[in-house]
Amino acid sequence: MNIIVSACLLGINSKYNGGNNYSEKVELLSKNYTLIPVCPEQLGGLSTPRYPAEIKQGSDIILNSLGQEVTLCFKKGAKEALKIALLNNCKYAILKSKSPSCGYGFIYDGTFSNNIVKGNGVFAQLLIENGIKVYTEEDEFSL
Ligand code: SF4
Repeated sequence: MNIIVSACLLGINSKYNGGNNYSEKVELLSKNYTLIPVCPEQLGGLSTPRYPAEIKQGSDIILNSLGQEVTLCFKKGAKEALKIALLNNCKYAILKSKSPSCGYGFIYDGTFSNNIVKGNGVFAQLLIENGIKVYTEEDEFSL
C-alpha cells in the first residue's frame, strides 16, 4: 500500500528554514508500506529556505512573515501533490502537524506567535476533499 507523506517527516530538508522534521515513527512505516514523500510548498514553486508562512485566521489567505501573499503558490503546490497521491492510489496520508500546507486539525493562527487554532492546511484540506484519510505524525495511525 502506498502512503503519501510530508517530505520533511522523512528527513528531507524541505522545511522553510532549510531543515526537516524527521520522525522515526513515520519512517518505521516503510517496513510495511511504500512511503511517497511530497512537499507541497516546494511543488508550488517556493524556494528552500523561504520565509515562514501562515494562514490568516478566518480567511483562506496565506501570508509570509514579510506580509507577502503566497496563497497561489500554496494552492498550486497542493494540487500538484494531490496529483501524485492520486496517481499512486494513496488512501492515507501522514502529514506534518500545524503546517499551513500539511497541518490537520490544528494550524498556526497567522500571527507568527506560535498560537494554534483549529483548522487544516491547504494540502491536508484538499486530500480530505478527495477522500484521502489524513493523519499527522502525532496521531496513532490506523492504516
Ligand atoms: S509543506 Fe509540508 S512537507 Fe513541505 S516542509 Fe512544510 S510541512 Fe514539510
